[in-house]
Amino acid sequence: MDMVYNVENVFAKIIRGDIPCEKVYEDEFTLAFHDINPRAPVHVVVIPKGSYVSFADFSANGSPEEIYNFFQSVGKIAEELNLLKGGYRILANHGQHAGQEVPHFHMHIFAGRHLGPMLVPVE
Ligand code: AMP
Repeated sequence: MDMVYNVENVFAKIIRGDIPCEKVYEDEFTLAFHDINPRAPVHVVVIPKGSYVSFADFSANGSPEEIYNFFQSVGKIAEELNLLKGGYRILANHGQHAGQEVPHFHMHIFAGRHLGPMLVPVE
């Protein structure tokens, strides 16, 4: 996957305020919003505000403060959305095999129904 950050990706535009989002949470380092094409009753996308292409980029090059804040925010958002009792799933796609569409690191939070098996079983 291309490690050069493309400032024209859709999440960079959301961070800049060039396009709107349905915001769920924001702090100095992290932004979260409802996915435009939800795959579950609750489907939130959480992104760091820094320019990281993927999980690999963020985990290798994010500052300790950014990484700590990001993961703490994911937990906080799930709690604020009252997802702890019913449960939720977090997921990050990196690269081609995972089907990553947007080249800005993000984590999905899914909830609100039984989410089924983690992956479709291998044939
Ligand atoms: P991924 O396949 O992990 O890269 O996920 C990208 C996600 O971004 C998909 O679930 C899309 O529905 C979502 N998405 C794309 N554009 C927007 C947007 N403008 N606002 C909110 N979510 C978006």
